[in-house]
Amino acid sequence: MEYFDINMDLTAEDKAIRAAAREFASKVMRPISLELDRMTAEEVVADGSPLWEFFRKAYELDFHTILMPEFYGGQGLSPLQIHLVYEEFGWASFGLSVQLAVACFPAYCASMTADDELVDTFVKPFCECRDGSIRGCWGITEPEHGSDVIAVGEDYFSSPDLQGNLQVVQDGEEWVINGQKSAWVSGGTLATHALLHCQMDPSRGFAGNGLCIVPLDMEGVSRGKPLEKIGQRDLNQGEIYFDNVRIPRNWMIAEPDFYVPMLDMILASANLCMAAFSTGLARAALEESLTYTRQRVQGGKPLIKHYVMKQRIFDLFRRVETCRAVSRAAMNLNFNISPPHVEYSLWAKTQCTEMAFKNTHEAIQIWGANGLTKEYIAEKLFRDARATLIEDGNNETLARHGGHILGETYPRRPIDF
Ligand SMILES: Cc1cc2nc3c(=O)[nH]c(=O)nc-3n(C[C@H](O)[C@H](O)[C@H](O)COP(=O)(O)OP(=O)(O)OC[C@H]3O[C@@H](n4cnc5c(N)ncnc54)[C@H](O)[C@@H]3O)c2cc1C
Repeated sequence: MEYFDINMDLTAEDKAIRAAAREFASKVMRPISLELDRMTAEEVVADGSPLWEFFRKAYELDFHTILMPEFYGGQGLSPLQIHLVYEEFGWASFGLSVQLAVACFPAYCASMTADDELVDTFVKPFCECRDGSIRGCWGITEPEHGSDVIAVGEDYFSSPDLQGNLQVVQDGEEWVINGQKSAWVSGGTLATHALLHCQMDPSRGFAGNGLCIVPLDMEGVSRGKPLEKIGQRDLNQGEIYFDNVRIPRNWMIAEPDFYVPMLDMILASANLCMAAFSTGLARAALEESLTYTRQRVQGGKPLIKHYVMKQRIFDLFRRVETCRAVSRAAMNLNFNISPPHVEYSLWAKTQCTEMAFKNTHEAIQIWGANGLTKEYIAEKLFRDARATLIEDGNNETLARHGGHILGETYPRRPIDF
């Protein structure tokens, strides 16, 4: 379904990029996502699963390098163009959107180091990959630490009582990694590389953390089983275990003194993506509801012809346009400045996920009992949206982090572009 764009400045190039993303989203992502949603978590990653076709086609079309710097092989998309693409992806499937975005995380963070060896080992091969065989993941959550890991500003964040489940110690010119990440690591059982948060100096709690890149075919790495969950079932998740895994010193890309700024940079980028995907998800709920209410007849006429239903549809539309305005504005800011103003990414993520969830919740009500059956897409959109309120940080925890940043930095000084 075509939509009017309130931004009258879209160029022909912007529109062409959006059209290409929409083609992929509607012809590849949405059908594959619906198929994967009905499979078990094991079947999703089994040989012959349509998930592999998704990876292959996405990489063939270069959709895996969207966030990568142009200098290393990214496409040089503007923040608005990234948003246009990610909205289409979110419309098609939130889970597959996250799967693809997180695939670049190790290479994305390695590209910030400008370390030639890291660039040659991790960044260039990822950008050049066209068959989906290099896939990253982001290991931050641990079995005993969910919200703790981003509790910057809380007393306990730097307390030695906060002992991580993944520890790293130095041995000569190497780091030795031991422990595990939780079952919630997206792409955990299929990733070839991890961007890994690890505790380096336990005497400083999580303020003593570091960030490293680990190829997951190294000796000592093992995986858990693919996780079963209610929503985003097309997004693979599972534990990763590390038993005396040894990496060279320069694969540790941030040590404690630079850890919090790096964490904020990652949170800023990840949450912008979440907000853009949520815009697409909110739009899917609107479009599917419009289609349904034009067809379903009650009281002798289509639902959409009834006064109250018109109001309810308008409410869905309101939330889509608000999502788009909010997430584009935040993306335009934070993909243009360094370091990012993280609170704007957190604003966009919490606001847009809540509005997308509201739209999918209301879509089920609009469908009536049909909204509850697997015959229609409404229940899948709802299940997918529910996960977003927790994904990439509980919204309450992100709000607390945003409040902490405001406490330290408000009011921000104007930026000279
Ligand atoms: C779909 C999905 C994808 C994900 N992908 C990844 C991924 O790629 N990589 C990864 O590492 N992780 C991933 N996660 C994990 C996610 O980041 C965590 O689930 C999230 O940070 C919350 O942690 P938790 O689930 O352990 O909840 P907890 O931290 O245990 O929180 C439980 C509840 O307690 C509240 N709470 C927590 N701390 C406090 C406090 N100090 N005071 C008051 N209340 C508190 C929270 O708000 C929440 O309501 C993913 C999760 C989902 C759902």
